[in-house]
Amino acid sequence: MATLGHVAVGVVAARWRASRPGSLPLGVAMLGLAALSLLPDADFVAFHLGIPYSHPLGHRGMTHSPAFAVLVGIVIYGALRMSGRPALLDALLATLVVASHGVLDAMTTGGLGVEFLWPMDPQRFFLPWRFIPVAPLGARMLSPRGLSVLLAEAVLFLPAWAYAFWPRSRAPATG
Ligand SMILES: [Zn+2]
Repeated sequence: MATLGHVAVGVVAARWRASRPGSLPLGVAMLGLAALSLLPDADFVAFHLGIPYSHPLGHRGMTHSPAFAVLVGIVIYGALRMSGRPALLDALLATLVVASHGVLDAMTTGGLGVEFLWPMDPQRFFLPWRFIPVAPLGARMLSPRGLSVLLAEAVLFLPAWAYAFWPRSRAPATG
């Protein structure tokens, strides 16, 4: 899967969070949660380190598991608490956004499955519903097929984009 679908989840979460008290400014929340939505793909570095795709530390391995998402949530919870901000809702939201990455990848039409049970079991899984076109890896994304995948994701996640960026109605002026 390319980036657009993952980022869509991040910006939707930010838009929802911004409508509740104690949120960071919408733009900051969008940037932060969009970055977290892509964090699991930091395992791309494995290819450069010579770690095979199928290895537990390979692409769609450890960083795509729910356990990794929980670890990220704990780190964010700790960081927010130390900075004196309310932490629980933001940490839960961050956990869900990171966890959504593996779920979406498990609905793609190719590649290897997702290591959902890390660290207990290295088995890879797909979900029964696989309708998101798999993206070519690395620089091959810059190809007609890569662009068609981006376009398909933009359309598939159109409702998410609409929710995230729909202009907010202003409160009527009073007095
Ligand atoms: Zn991924």
